[in-house]
Amino acid sequence: MDKIEHIGIAVKDLAVSNTLFEKLLGVPSYKMEEVASEGVKTSFFKSGPNKIELLEATNADSAIAKYLEKKGEGIHHIAFAVDDLEAEIKRLEGEGFVVLPGFPKNGADNKRVAFLHPKGTNGVLTELCQDLG
Ligand code: ZN
Repeated sequence: MDKIEHIGIAVKDLAVSNTLFEKLLGVPSYKMEEVASEGVKTSFFKSGPNKIELLEATNADSAIAKYLEKKGEGIHHIAFAVDDLEAEIKRLEGEGFVVLPGFPKNGADNKRVAFLHPKGTNGVLTELCQDLG
């Protein structure tokens, strides 16, 4: 695994949170993108070398909607950059980590992504993402 690629934050209202994070970080969102297959709308911010991804649910069945219902707004996941997603998944499965069903698949921001089950990672939903260039 490489550096932390971004931190994902679940929000109820992306428009409201976009304004909030613009004020907080002092920069506007540089990209908004809907990932229909995941039922999310995302917004990305860069602050120095760091990236923040805001996630809003676009339907009641989306994982973000369920998360918000259960836990409310807040840090949803931590994403690590990887060079070779398939190799990293193999390594982690060999260590006993569980990849969530349906992954890897293409995610937001031109990345191939997979998530590790939070039960195996001290409750922290962990994303692996490989830049598709
Ligand atoms: Zn993410």
